[in-house]
Amino acid sequence: MEKLWIEVLNSIKNQVSPANYRTWFAKTSFNCLNGEELIIDVPSGFVQQNLSTKYSSLLDSEIEKAFGRKFQLRFKIDSSNSKATQAQEEVELDAFTPTRPRFSDVGLNPKYTLENFVVGLSNSLAFAAAQAVVQNPGLSYNPLFIYGGTGVGKTHLMHAIGHAILSKNPSLKIIYCSSEKFTNDFVQSIQTKRTGEFRAKYRSCNLFLIDDIQFISGRDSTQEEFFHTFNELHTKNSQIILTSDRPPKEMQKLESRLMSRFQGGLMVDIQQPDFDTRVAILKARCRERNEIVPEDCLTLIAEVMPTNARELEGKLIQIIQSARSSGQDLNIESVRTFLGKVQSAPQKLDHKKVILGINQYFNIKMADITGPKRKKELVLPRQLAMYILYEECKLPYEKIGELLGGRDHTTIMHGVEKIHAAVSRDREVQRMLIEVKQALTI
Ligand code: ADP
Ligand code: MG
Repeated sequence: MEKLWIEVLNSIKNQVSPANYRTWFAKTSFNCLNGEELIIDVPSGFVQQNLSTKYSSLLDSEIEKAFGRKFQLRFKIDSSNSKATQAQEEVELDAFTPTRPRFSDVGLNPKYTLENFVVGLSNSLAFAAAQAVVQNPGLSYNPLFIYGGTGVGKTHLMHAIGHAILSKNPSLKIIYCSSEKFTNDFVQSIQTKRTGEFRAKYRSCNLFLIDDIQFISGRDSTQEEFFHTFNELHTKNSQIILTSDRPPKEMQKLESRLMSRFQGGLMVDIQQPDFDTRVAILKARCRERNEIVPEDCLTLIAEVMPTNARELEGKLIQIIQSARSSGQDLNIESVRTFLGKVQSAPQKLDHKKVILGINQYFNIKMADITGPKRKKELVLPRQLAMYILYEECKLPYEKIGELLGGRDHTTIMHGVEKIHAAVSRDREVQRMLIEVKQALTI
């Protein structure tokens, strides 16, 4: 029986974050079976309360899986070693639960952590840059400029860097604000004749996180002030991180000296999530909210909604609530109805569509992609075609060789490998792949 409980724990371990596992599950143990009841020892009332409020459905389903039947779950507080565990628990909570007052003092959302950030094709470079900044604040990339469309995770990543740096060094002074807040503070400081205070505040921090900097466009005096703030912080090696909905060169009415400052560190973009990342985001949301939604339903939502994380999350919650209020189970049929349109079974992606899609995206002809020319403008589209035909259509190298004008299978293998390697480090290739896949609705 003890073994079965360990099975339950092992399965849960894969479904919750490591911090949550350590805090809530790791110190539980099997006590006994008592008729319909399964009794589990827990180290404290706090753990008991959390498990029964937040994790009861997950526990119920995992118990049924492991034990082969349902049980009434009961917790027993094992006071024999509660002192020790309580102390340990506090330490762990302190280290892992980002609800410490410091974070919220600064205005960082406790949910926006690096651990909760799902990494995929569309954001892996931005995530890697975030990690580098956390390792070496002020020294690796300064400023870090993160840009991308709405709802793709810019604010999340920025807060996550803040949390991570603060956890490593709680005494650092952090300022997080939107560029509008900066503007308002500045304007107010002029009105109240307190510009000295304003400057002392903004120019003394070690980490300056400024969200949605695009709103600074066209505000001349704020830009001037921001320029000096930026310079002073930069000279002191204070880390500066900016987010924007577009790259600096597309920010209209941005002073050129600011533009060059923004471009002087590292610029990384976050794209709309691709299909795999969408599925991973949906799964993570279910885990966090402790909701159990069948995998095929999540795949369906990700398929039908080629959109950003925020909209995906909104739709998922809407669907869960619709199911709950109408008393329906979540299955592929009900989700299809909740999604508002009846989806036909997803079509299998055929190779003609892929090659045509690539040709259209790069504006090249069939003869170009199948022909022998080795110009750079043709090699990349050809290799992307190889990669998609291999990864998405699951065609063998030989068949891909045939489709692309009778090329040898080793050439195809090489092409696929080339893109595979480029995808994790080359932003341009990444972007193309995402866009082509989006055009093909993969
Ligand atoms: P942006 O600032 O780019 O408009 P946000 O950072 O506000 O987007 O993200 C919108 C929502 O989507 C937030 O709830 C955020 O936690 C979530 N989100 C975005 N990207 C990710 C990701 N990669 N992993 C997990 N959640 C994400
Ligand atoms: Mg944002």
